[in-house]
Amino acid sequence: MFNVWGSMVYRCKCGNEKRMHLEVGVEGPGKQNEMPCPFCIVCPDCHKLDMVHVDWARDEAFAPRGIQKGESYFRLDRKAGCGRPVHQVNKA
Ligand SMILES: [Zn+2]
Repeated sequence: MFNVWGSMVYRCKCGNEKRMHLEVGVEGPGKQNEMPCPFCIVCPDCHKLDMVHVDWARDEAFAPRGIQKGESYFRLDRKAGCGRPVHQVNKA
């Protein structure tokens, strides 16, 4: 189990939309920011690199809490140096 502190909406050209949560250390919060997350990721539906961070006004930040079942997220990946997307089956 690990904590997430916020989320961002990603949308693909195929119409698939997902809320991606951020593990603590990915993009923040604050001084805990260790690495960015990618602006563009592979869509779990159509498998194209067409899923981008959209609707920035819908970004969320909250007190860190445990990730919940069904939530997609960016995992802290120190080897890659960039948040790694993990897609869960349930849609945003
Ligand atoms: Zn797609």
